Amino acid sequence: MVWLVMLLLFGVLDYPVLGNSVEFAIVAGLRLVTAALLFGLFLRLKRQPSLATKGYAVTAIEVFGFVIFFFLYFIRHDIVSWIIGVVGMLIISLFIFIPNRVYLSLLAACFGIAGMFYSVRLNGFGAPELVGLLFILSVPTVVGFFTALRLQTAQRQQYALFDQVSSINRNLQSEIKRREALEEELKRQATTDPLTGLFNRRQYEMLFNRERERCNRQQKHISLCVVDLDHFKRINDKYGHDVGDLALRHSADLFSRTLRQSDVVGRFGGEEFVLILPDTDLEQAVAVVNRLREELESSPLQSPEGEIKLTATFGVTQVIGGEESIEKVIKRADKGLYEGKGAGRNRVMTA
Ligand code: GH3
Ligand code: MG
Ligand code: MG
Repeated sequence: MVWLVMLLLFGVLDYPVLGNSVEFAIVAGLRLVTAALLFGLFLRLKRQPSLATKGYAVTAIEVFGFVIFFFLYFIRHDIVSWIIGVVGMLIISLFIFIPNRVYLSLLAACFGIAGMFYSVRLNGFGAPELVGLLFILSVPTVVGFFTALRLQTAQRQQYALFDQVSSINRNLQSEIKRREALEEELKRQATTDPLTGLFNRRQYEMLFNRERERCNRQQKHISLCVVDLDHFKRINDKYGHDVGDLALRHSADLFSRTLRQSDVVGRFGGEEFVLILPDTDLEQAVAVVNRLREELESSPLQSPEGEIKLTATFGVTQVIGGEESIEKVIKRADKGLYEGKGAGRNRVMTA
């Protein structure tokens, strides 16, 4: 756009010298055509920015633009030295303002110099002037070319470095993600039982201590229940260990699903579970656990061997005082459980 404005401004300066002549019409026509090409390219670049990086379009217009200067030698003898100066500036501008297209710019500059040389010679200039002209126009070409080349090399190195850094960064990010996932997985493995996904002993003991302290602080009750599946040996014997495992998963899912998010469900032993119910007194715990018992009884396992009915016996107790250890509480709940087994199984007993 700068080029376009300059082109039209200098066209205005032609008029006082050339007047209403054929020469003015030719030069003005060439200027307008070049300006139109530039404006067209300007509009096009907005939609197709890749035109700028390829550089062919702008190089073609540069070559075309030089033709005006060839004509000017014939028409405006009065400003020959001016024209040469402007062409020198133009060549430098080619290299500076059109980045990364150094070889194309060199091609356009050489075309410009050759055309000028020929035009000046046709205008009757002698050998000394031609040598001088060649020298004057070669300087900006050589200086412009090498400066732009160095700049281009530096920019490409910078880009390559930037690219390398981004790729290292990307790798680092994905490594961090991988490690985070690994850490998460290790944590899961360290805190849960692999068969049922329930909390393991270490984890539910830790959670029990935390919840007991919190309930004690807030003067709330906390209850605990021990669950043992009824006649589980028979299931293993009749259907095999794999189906036994399925029954364990089924029960674990059902307990986790049915209880509150804040309740803790752990795997206590083979087919025994422990349920920690914070903010719950004994009466409420019995109601909750009874619901669980009914839910298990009415949700038989759909196994490859067919439908298998499951029941369990539950021993419920309330934690007394703020200091009672989980071992002590479990022992008490276990007593209830044992009584429940003796009383015919599939029931909730308190202790
Ligand atoms: P009840 O509790 O009603 O008195 O009878 P039971 O048959 O369930 O007796 P008990 O609780 O003593 O038996 C536990 C059985 O659970 C023993 C073992 O065969 C089975 N078991 C323990 N852990 C696993 C396990 O991880 N997978 C499977 N499939 N079975 C297990
Ligand atoms: Mg058992
Ligand atoms: Mg059992």
